[in-house]
Amino acid sequence: MRKLIILLLALGLPLPLLAQQPDSLAAAGESRDSLRVPADFRTETGTFRLGTGVPVDTLDIDDGRLLLVLRDDHTWYYIKNIQRMAADSTFTKDWIPNSTNPYKIPLDSLPLRNSICLVDSASVFVCPNQTKVFSRFGYRHGRRHQGVDLPYKTGTPVVAAFDGRVRVSDYSGGYGNLIVIRHENGLETYYGHLSKREVEVGDWVHAGDQIGLGGSTGRSTGPHLHFETRYKGFAFDPEWIVDFEKGQLRANVFVLRRSYLDAHSHYVPESIDEEDDVYAADEKVIEEEKRRAAERAAARYYTVRSGDTLGAIARKQGKSLNAILKLNPGVNPNKLRIGQKIRVN
Ligand SMILES: [Zn+2]
Repeated sequence: MRKLIILLLALGLPLPLLAQQPDSLAAAGESRDSLRVPADFRTETGTFRLGTGVPVDTLDIDDGRLLLVLRDDHTWYYIKNIQRMAADSTFTKDWIPNSTNPYKIPLDSLPLRNSICLVDSASVFVCPNQTKVFSRFGYRHGRRHQGVDLPYKTGTPVVAAFDGRVRVSDYSGGYGNLIVIRHENGLETYYGHLSKREVEVGDWVHAGDQIGLGGSTGRSTGPHLHFETRYKGFAFDPEWIVDFEKGQLRANVFVLRRSYLDAHSHYVPESIDEEDDVYAADEKVIEEEKRRAAERAAARYYTVRSGDTLGAIARKQGKSLNAILKLNPGVNPNKLRIGQKIRVN
């Protein structure tokens, strides 16, 4: 039935049966979510226009993440499946309301690199503020600065950068009024020094939704927005993903390298390609080291005794002379010493 509906939709045919399905009505679907998928999500243009009809049914689609809502005027739209998202480990594991860092894991337990989808066809990004960053990520007067500072007048609306769920809405020391939002990809964004918080822990927000007002609360010398991006509790320079002057993401998919999570790391535009190579090399080195360690663990040695020749040792070990020579570069078969260690495996 579901396939048939989708087929009918795809063909642009009316769906007379749908209005007669009394079991899973609109209200249920609507209450499940307020996270509307952006209007430009649809790739099929022209077939369906945005309608004004009353929602009559909500359908799961194969994706599971999205639901299809049908209106009585035969138009439809997508919503995110909040129930499903809420049950996902992203929003249950290490979910400690109002903790600034609920993750307690060592940095080296994270992968060397991790591809993170920032936006897809069902999600958008809204830049917190299109402006020049006036204080960057990294060390500042010997003190760690874990985000970027963006000029922000007190009382100016602050919006969520991506869809997600509010994990922190609290007054928190140096941050002042702080909002932290966890996103579907596991990243968290922090918004500090707000004059007012307008969302509560557990609220689902959409990219672009107002979450508070800019201010200068906490350790702040003047009105600005302190914006952080974190992965598993580790801050990385938001400029890796956002070009604040353009107000855009640098890419839809972000390759987060573990080195970015180091306190001394910061965004360096010209080094992206180099860094790629450096990192690739890094991984090769690690692999090579592992291989050598395994080899070392498997290595066996024979101690040369009086009267031994390399040929005799090889025969005793069931190996060819050549194999033994290969394992012992630099060993002269005509000049064996008593007590010399010969590698035999
Ligand atoms: Zn700051």
